[in-house]
Amino acid sequence: MREKLIEILNQAQKMEYLGNVATYIPELSHKNKNRMALALMDTKGNLTVAGEAKESFTLQSMSKIITLTRALMRYGEDFVFSRVGVESVDLPFNTLKSFTIKPNNPMINAGAMVISSLLVEESFETLLDYVRKLAGNPTIRLNETVYKSEKSTSYRNPAIAYYLKDLNNITTDVEETLEYYYRQCSIELNVCDLANIAAVYANNGIHPVTKEPLIDLRSAEIVKTLMAVCGMYDESGNFLMRVGIPAKSGVSGGILAVVPGRYGIGVYGPGLDENGNSIAGAKMLELLSSEMKLNIFSY
Ligand code: GLN
Repeated sequence: MREKLIEILNQAQKMEYLGNVATYIPELSHKNKNRMALALMDTKGNLTVAGEAKESFTLQSMSKIITLTRALMRYGEDFVFSRVGVESVDLPFNTLKSFTIKPNNPMINAGAMVISSLLVEESFETLLDYVRKLAGNPTIRLNETVYKSEKSTSYRNPAIAYYLKDLNNITTDVEETLEYYYRQCSIELNVCDLANIAAVYANNGIHPVTKEPLIDLRSAEIVKTLMAVCGMYDESGNFLMRVGIPAKSGVSGGILAVVPGRYGIGVYGPGLDENGNSIAGAKMLELLSSEMKLNIFSY
């Protein structure tokens, strides 16, 4: 298995020259495009890794599936989806244009901020603790530098949040909500942690190693569905057709992917395409899917 992953990583490495590291969050711009990694955990808890498995990066938009999970478990699907939609949108993740009151889905920033507003009364530490349990890694922490970097340079996210407040779809304090959102995006981990988190979703909410029940069945089901529908932004349909695995990307270059009942996958490559998805990461998932027959639409 490890040889297969190394072979896939080598192929992705050839794409190093493609794409750009995110620069709109200045602190992300220092990342080295040739540092890539791939980790796979099966539902028995066996972990296989290739590449720079210890290279750390921030969750960014991958955090949106975790906050959505918490909101679903806390408030139930009827309430959550009275505030945010479940349809894909053919516009960038930081769009202000696509919605009137209800953001299209919880994976664009607007939808994610509505979800953050539902969780803001829980402390950020509660979320961080939950991420640590999902990843089976108590050492995961916030990257203060990335957090401050985004907070001090983002004008778009405050615009979205204040717009939602005006529409009464954020009812909490806007600055506190933004604070929570920037922090959830700045949780730092590596591909092994991503594979662990993804494996919990693959294993219907039970951590394959610790055996701790962390997500109820229905919430895990909904989150995987939305990963398939809109986890890769305006490239979601194309990605799903090419790869056939529900996945969620972040502008740090990470992608978390879930093959239900089989594998949790984490990939990393900081060179991004114009949609903000990791080019090498998507390639690794495509190769992995065809090599290991992971397309969920085939059997
Ligand atoms: N923190 C980033 C932002 O809000 C997350 C975006 C992303 O990963 N696509 O812009």
